[in-house]
Amino acid sequence: MTLAEKVNLTTGTGELMGPCVGNTGSALRFGIPSLCLQDSALGIGATDNITAFPAGITVGATWNKALAYARGVALGAEARGKGVNIQLGPVVGPIGRKPRGGRNWEGFGADPVLQAWGGAETVKGIQANGVIATIKHFIGNEQEAYRMDIIPHGLMKAISSNIDDRTLHELYSWPFAEAIRAGVGAVMTSYNDVNGSASSQNSMMINGILKDEFGFQGLVMTDWLSQIGGVSSALAGLDMAMPGDGAIPFLGLAYWAYELSTSVLNGTVPLNRLNDMVTRIVATWYQLGQDQDYPLPNFSANTADPTGLCYPAALFSPTCVTNQYVNVQADHAKVARNVSREAITLLKNVNNALPLSTSASLKIFGSDAENNPAGPNACNQRSCNTGILGMGWGSGTANYPYLDAPIDAIKRKAANVTYYSSDSFPSGLTAAAGDIAVVFVTSDSGENQYTVEGNDGDRSSSGLYTWHNGDALVEAAAAKYATVIVVVHTVGPILVENWIDLPSVKAVIFAHLPGQEAGDSLTDILFGEYSPSGHLPYSIPVAESNYPSSVSLLGFEFFQVQDTFSEGLYIDYRYLNKHSIAPRFAFGHGLSYTTFSRTSATITAVTALSSTPPARAPKGSTPMYSTSIPPASEVAWPTGFNTIWRYLYPYVDDPESITATNTFVYPAGYQTTPQPDPVAGGDQGGNPALWDVMFTISVKVTNTGTVAGKDVVMVFVQYPSDNPWDTPIIQLRAFEKTDTLAKGASEVVTLQITRKDLSIWDVVSQNWIIPVSKTAPFLFWIGDSSANLTLACESLTKI
Ligand code: BGC
Repeated sequence: MTLAEKVNLTTGTGELMGPCVGNTGSALRFGIPSLCLQDSALGIGATDNITAFPAGITVGATWNKALAYARGVALGAEARGKGVNIQLGPVVGPIGRKPRGGRNWEGFGADPVLQAWGGAETVKGIQANGVIATIKHFIGNEQEAYRMDIIPHGLMKAISSNIDDRTLHELYSWPFAEAIRAGVGAVMTSYNDVNGSASSQNSMMINGILKDEFGFQGLVMTDWLSQIGGVSSALAGLDMAMPGDGAIPFLGLAYWAYELSTSVLNGTVPLNRLNDMVTRIVATWYQLGQDQDYPLPNFSANTADPTGLCYPAALFSPTCVTNQYVNVQADHAKVARNVSREAITLLKNVNNALPLSTSASLKIFGSDAENNPAGPNACNQRSCNTGILGMGWGSGTANYPYLDAPIDAIKRKAANVTYYSSDSFPSGLTAAAGDIAVVFVTSDSGENQYTVEGNDGDRSSSGLYTWHNGDALVEAAAAKYATVIVVVHTVGPILVENWIDLPSVKAVIFAHLPGQEAGDSLTDILFGEYSPSGHLPYSIPVAESNYPSSVSLLGFEFFQVQDTFSEGLYIDYRYLNKHSIAPRFAFGHGLSYTTFSRTSATITAVTALSSTPPARAPKGSTPMYSTSIPPASEVAWPTGFNTIWRYLYPYVDDPESITATNTFVYPAGYQTTPQPDPVAGGDQGGNPALWDVMFTISVKVTNTGTVAGKDVVMVFVQYPSDNPWDTPIIQLRAFEKTDTLAKGASEVVTLQITRKDLSIWDVVSQNWIIPVSKTAPFLFWIGDSSANLTLACESLTKI
């Protein structure tokens, strides 16, 4: 490839300079088109005729790996059908460290193992279609406020997530490593700094952790407009700048594009580094088979019109066919409904208040039961909370093809339904004997570019309480009706103390963020066609003060907000357990209409315990190409070239005048000599021995109740009592969901415990170490929530 072709593939063409949210340049001589990068993690963003799947947090609540994969396959099929080369999902960062954090709902739950499974299965599903998945945001994007530099840079830097090495390994990077092991093709960096260095040019994180230690072979891209330097980001390991513009979009200025060409010609960026960027992009494209019959984009994220500007931000843009309205939905509504239904989490059910009879007299309250009267897509990127809450807001959304509202689904099933759409309890309303009130409430959050009802992305003004005076609505209904069912659509934990113990609040359901199938998936459960089998992907505390103060949202600070992750490994249930704080509902809690017994736990040692893993294999050789600086003519403007102003090109005016004298001055201490192979590396995700199975645990689950249902078996590990490292008392390490078990039926569930599951990250040796003890065993607690662990095995025998 010429220098121009190589640079083309690394740099976006500019914001609004192509059909997709990100568009690279092309290398057409090799059949490589401009690559289309498009959101989101729950459906193909900003287009039509797609499926609006349930959000990541909803997938997490299913605890069903096969369903996570099936949703990924359907997502990828839709991406491919629309001509998306690189899908900008799934999300495993934020992990949900801060309960008020705006984008927690895009990921799968506040635990690294749950996040990792959600992310890895989604990656595999998406990529089964040949679509490159992107795991994001690497790393530490735990709050939305101050996530970006305030332009001009330096006025106030993006928030710095200050994370110690052990916490980084055992908590925040764990799901990324698992996605890399699953073969993910792309990683997106985060907006925030990590330990004071911007994620888009953080050499420790990109070169060090991602590429060297985790053996990531694909491409690393910036989050949108987060590149803050050209040479610096190139040397730190960045491979793709998105959407390509420099600090200020729409000016036709870039840190890369023509500047990267210049940097190679003048010797400040070694040609090898550019070759590495391009190898990573092109190899991923080939590996996913995109050289064979891959469709070009047939939609535009910029307009819904059939024809329009090809490059809306250009001064003079040609016109294009912008949308072909290709319907990619197939039967994906079924997968969407299965996920939404299996996520529904029954938190409380007194006297079998649920399921409801279809002949019951139902009084339905709250605007969350109906569609937004202006239509489900009335607000840009769902930046309002009007009507049924099916997803949060921001780039992690998709347009609803339709939104099956709960009230419509309820009316389809039940004969005797009255709906009060106001969020205030109708004055003077009285209850008749036998009436059942079903009250719908919400809590919303999203991305920082929108402020919704005072919430700047994070739940900054609403806190962890329901929006629209939802608590007052529940309390008013509870004062009138003997039976109240509360249905919650929420981005994360909410505080329920105002009403949870009211005698008439008989049942509470978390339906999370169900996407387009909000209605039928809910009535499947409400009327008992299916037994609920969702479990909480986070804890619900009694009070916000039960969390460590370090996970509060941070406000303004001069120059840079410093967010120090001083609670370390202790987020969510790990913190509550450590401080003996009983939650209202524990991590993993979820009831069923049936009951299960878990018996006959057996443990089998598969691999002998050793404190350090077997040594990794040495690194293979790196592809090397010519290192001589290419002729300047390779980036000269082609003769007669018709430029479009604001489009980012690799071409340079008068390239022959650039000479290789301007050598980059490396920072003090920077080494360009090869370093030893990281001991913890060796394959995609890390040393392959980390996934050696050390133990298998099997448990017999029997449906002891009266209706069919699915159980989730969770295994939490407790480290040996003489473990010298400060480690959470219990940590989720494995889980499996059963098939549907008929009344009386049993299934033996087998779970695997790997070397990594038993290891701590030792910052001194930079390796995963098992704290093997001669006297104290590992304990494996088995149950269905962090607070309901009734069976245990130990590493030597069953106890
Ligand atoms: C978000 C990313 C998203 C990108 C492109 C950014 O604001 O943080 O998650 O993929 O925009 O829309």
